[in-house]
Amino acid sequence: MSWLAWLLLAGPVVADSLSLDGDFTQGGMAVGRGLPQGTKVWQDGRPVDVGPGGVFLLGFARDAGPVSEIRLRYPDGHEEKRRLKIARRQFRIQRIDGLPANKVTPRTEAELARIRRETAAVKEARRILSERADFLQGFIWPVQGPISGTYGSQRVLNGKPRRPHYGVDIARPRGTTVVAPADGVVIFADPDLFFSGGTLIIDHGLRLNTSYLHLSKLLVKVGDRVRKGQPIAEIGATGRATGPHLHWGANLRDVRIDPQLLVPPMPRQAVEVVRK
Ligand SMILES: [Zn+2]
Repeated sequence: MSWLAWLLLAGPVVADSLSLDGDFTQGGMAVGRGLPQGTKVWQDGRPVDVGPGGVFLLGFARDAGPVSEIRLRYPDGHEEKRRLKIARRQFRIQRIDGLPANKVTPRTEAELARIRRETAAVKEARRILSERADFLQGFIWPVQGPISGTYGSQRVLNGKPRRPHYGVDIARPRGTTVVAPADGVVIFADPDLFFSGGTLIIDHGLRLNTSYLHLSKLLVKVGDRVRKGQPIAEIGATGRATGPHLHWGANLRDVRIDPQLLVPPMPRQAVEVVRK
């Protein structure tokens, strides 16, 4: 990828140590390593957290691209600007026309107040910066099974785009165990949010966090340190869900990324066994 060009242009001091690996695509994430100590980083004008050993994360939103601009300021004040090419993806769009205008569920004042409160609490939890780099160990699927929804897909009702789907849905029966996909710390846990029902958020360091929605049971609480593979919850259909499934999301700072790009392909036998 173009990082090599960056390395060559940045001079031998940086080229010796710096690397960037990941998915340079909409919804993707890249891990940078070996930044000289004290270097500051911005992605598209927004500050990027840098962890111990010069590790940092870049996230590419659903509508990112065609380029993302990275700015580095080295401890000596010297600055580098580089542009990363971000590949476009085709997202599924489902258009439904002719719906009655009043079909959108009206919400009461009390419900709207509750939704605002819950949204603020989740946002606040995600602001916490931890300099751990648990994400370096790699991710596993939190549960295996048929994928019933993918990141980025969008419904357009009466020509009006609704919020895209920012996660991957895995359909399994209520009570199925969900495990931590990587080490982390629980930063949010609530058994009953208006939209997402039983909800957990795990921080994996440098403001990369993964979320688990519609859970029937939470097995961990805020502040718990969890290990990769450890049971954290059980699948349910709580909140606004049509049937039991895990909605798995991933956020890097304020960018929603595609969790499916963090893990290997879903093993085919996992899907087949479930469907028998
Ligand atoms: Zn979903």
